[in-house]
Amino acid sequence: MTPTTNPPQALEFQCECGAIHGVVRESFPPNGRRLVCHCNDCQAFAHYLDREKQILDDHAGTHVYQMDSSKFTISKGQDKLACVTVTGGPLLRWYCATCKTPIANTLSSTRFPFLSLILSAFDQGKTDAMLGSAVEHVAIPSGAGDPGKVKTAGMAGMLWQLLVRVIKARFNPELKKSPLFDDATGKPLAEPIKLERSERLAIDEKADIYREVLAEAQ
Ligand SMILES: [Zn+2]
Ligand SMILES: [Zn+2]
Repeated sequence: MTPTTNPPQALEFQCECGAIHGVVRESFPPNGRRLVCHCNDCQAFAHYLDREKQILDDHAGTHVYQMDSSKFTISKGQDKLACVTVTGGPLLRWYCATCKTPIANTLSSTRFPFLSLILSAFDQGKTDAMLGSAVEHVAIPSGAGDPGKVKTAGMAGMLWQLLVRVIKARFNPELKKSPLFDDATGKPLAEPIKLERSERLAIDEKADIYREVLAEAQ
């Protein structure tokens, strides 16, 4: 019997204004994880961009794909990349500076060779075909309404998976590649924007109201 090889599949990324182009290449079966995060910080990012309607689902969840950063490349528009930290912490949330299409979340250095791709800008049919449609939920109590009986992601399993990625990348520098960081210096390609406390408070107030609206609609 000849072994079957599965070439990587490709998923195109393009921001709304067309400035940033990229592609995700994933092997089959995919080794990333589809998550829906309902946490307040992910919601804050959606509101910061004024794109909550596109990004957040009916339960205020953000759909992401946690993956190896080296499998995402950006072919055009690196100079339009922007990133923000909504907490002042090391988690960077990336987007197009011109049209505010969200791209991905990362930690602040390529020592952590993974990213959470934000799926709202991707074609949903193609995303499901390539990455599978099974999702696990995180931080449900921070979301809106009751999503019912859904699968939740265990923190221990997720941390383990991230640790394995960090260790593998120590021995294989190729894995440290990220389209959002400078290869040579390992620094982010855009200076992270930090929100003032007053800005974050205003965003949280907006998020509160939005969650009430979502819950009301259920
Ligand atoms: Zn754009
Ligand atoms: Zn989150």
